Amino acid sequence: MEHIKETGEAMIQLPTENPRRTYISLSTVQTWKGYFERISDSPFASIITEDFLPAEDDEKSLGACRFLKVAVDSSSLILTILAGLESEISSLASRTKLTIHIVGADNQEIRLASMTEELYHLLPSLERLVVGYVGPDVGSSHGDITKLLEFQCCPECQKLGRSSRQAFLADDLYHDFAKSDLFAKYPPDLIVALHSGHAESQTDRWWPTLQCILDLGFPAVFTTYNQKEAVEEEQSFNSLGAHFSRKIAKNPWRGVLPMFDMFMERYDVFYHNYYWYIVKGRTHE
Ligand SMILES: [Zn+2]
Repeated sequence: MEHIKETGEAMIQLPTENPRRTYISLSTVQTWKGYFERISDSPFASIITEDFLPAEDDEKSLGACRFLKVAVDSSSLILTILAGLESEISSLASRTKLTIHIVGADNQEIRLASMTEELYHLLPSLERLVVGYVGPDVGSSHGDITKLLEFQCCPECQKLGRSSRQAFLADDLYHDFAKSDLFAKYPPDLIVALHSGHAESQTDRWWPTLQCILDLGFPAVFTTYNQKEAVEEEQSFNSLGAHFSRKIAKNPWRGVLPMFDMFMERYDVFYHNYYWYIVKGRTHE
């Protein structure tokens, strides 16, 4: 299967193989089985139940289900972004251009850059996509980068006349980046911060970034590894007068591989992008 992209570190990427001709909102399915069946048109839909259990009780099905669980961890990022876009942009189905800023980005998000093709495949009107990776860990040189990185889209998307996907790396804290020419040139339709842990560590460092995000007024999706983190982050944002356009909730597009934190008193289970919420501006100016 050519569309399965495997990388060195037990990472399997399973994007939708062919660009869709019609748009189906993710919110109409809400489960990974529904996504594979109705949106991604994937044969993998038959492997799992609605609860992400093997559809059959034999070795082959168990193995296939395990494979799919690893793959879903790589899809979680892009479907969480798409769910955020659906939640915040009412005209999403007809949008031809989108710009997304990933805040506090690191190698984990950058390694999944090829999965952003999924937005082309699920949003038939989309012709141009820019993704900015912003944060002190992105590893680019300092200063404004005026030249964007270009990623050729797949042959099917090229036939449809789509531009290459574009990306930039900005090695800056987001509130500093927000003052740059690059920001002015490519303002976000959606800001995304995955597992920022802004209420847990380096809180002083995050504080000006959170203020900046609220001041800008663009919608911003945050995800956390567990509920406790989400509740603490909600408290931080409440103290800043944030408006929540989506309250904290379990993210339907979270990863399904449980992870354990062995440094906690008891073994806490967490998942990639387990909880999510969206802030947009402040409740009163
Ligand atoms: Zn494509």
